[in-house]
Amino acid sequence: MDGGKFDQEPVTEEQLLAQGYRKYQGEGIDIYYNKDICAHIGNCVRGNSEIFEVGRRPWIIPDNGSVAIASYIVDTCPSGALKYVIKK
Ligand code: SF4
Repeated sequence: MDGGKFDQEPVTEEQLLAQGYRKYQGEGIDIYYNKDICAHIGNCVRGNSEIFEVGRRPWIIPDNGSVAIASYIVDTCPSGALKYVIKK
């Protein structure tokens, strides 16, 4: 799953918010999460428990890892519940 794209096109914040994703802001990357899509497979928390930690608020802190790691982990999400927008 490509967490930076929707239907092969770069994903935008406007699309994500309109589709019910919640934004977790970081310095170099914003991560978006849609709990209604999440399949609770756990690839995110297993992939990096500093960025993704269930039970913490906020449960996603993008700046707890590099942009490369954050985007890599989001790409392992099988359901599309996680997306990201890398900032320029
Ligand atoms: S990897 Fe995706 S589907 Fe799995 S728990 Fe995390 S957000 Fe949900």
